[in-house]
Amino acid sequence: MREKIIAGNWKMYMNHVEAVKFINGLQKELKRVETAYEIAVFPPFTSLFAVSQVLDKDLIKLGAQNTFYEKEGAYTGEVSVSMLKAIGCDYVIVGHSERRKYFYEDDAMIALKIKASLEGGITPILCVGETLEEREKGKAKEVVKQQMEEDLRYLSKEDIRRIVIAYEPVWAIGTGKNATPEEAQEMHEFVRETLNCQFGFSEITILYGGSVKPENIGELTRMKDVDGALVGGASIKLDSFLGIIKNVYQGGD
Ligand code: PEP
Repeated sequence: MREKIIAGNWKMYMNHVEAVKFINGLQKELKRVETAYEIAVFPPFTSLFAVSQVLDKDLIKLGAQNTFYEKEGAYTGEVSVSMLKAIGCDYVIVGHSERRKYFYEDDAMIALKIKASLEGGITPILCVGETLEEREKGKAKEVVKQQMEEDLRYLSKEDIRRIVIAYEPVWAIGTGKNATPEEAQEMHEFVRETLNCQFGFSEITILYGGSVKPENIGELTRMKDVDGALVGGASIKLDSFLGIIKNVYQGGD
């Protein structure tokens, strides 16, 4: 089912004290905002529990930025899906380009994480997207298709209804240079085509991510295959995250 979502990936920002302050401020403001979009935040692991204690789940959903695929064991430094579930996470980001780049996560590992998230009852948000070099060589769609085929390899047609995909062109993440609405739409449409070929179903939530700001969220979410956004940098400042939430396209014209 296509849900509308604005998700804030806090990356490695905000300790638990700062996180609680932010959430309290955001909730106060959100009570005054009417929106068709679900709002979700993705704090660092160490802030998840504190945030879960003050979160009003009718206003904001909780997610983690990563997980491991084993249920438990001698995996120093890792966090399991069931641990995230116990804290109250509804979502987990899997395959973010920063994890692919800096932590060498490959598609085989990402596929296992997606499977484990679904088995553990948490909705994975799978990030896919091409680098600038790949786009310039005309390979953007090929790259995204390959990521989808490999990362979703264990899923059935039923499973696919329970995931979210975020198209995040690597060249747009943290650079200030977003994809144009037309570029985003073209790739989102292609992601749906690829899902149809793989699973015979494509009516799932597809978010755009990459330098989303209050100034560009309206035109991006106006595109017919863009169901919302995964926001990084602009999600850790109250005024810009609220600006995004307020400026999102609500339909109608
Ligand atoms: C992200 O981290 O998923 C992201 C899209 O970052 P930014 O909005 O800062 O480009």
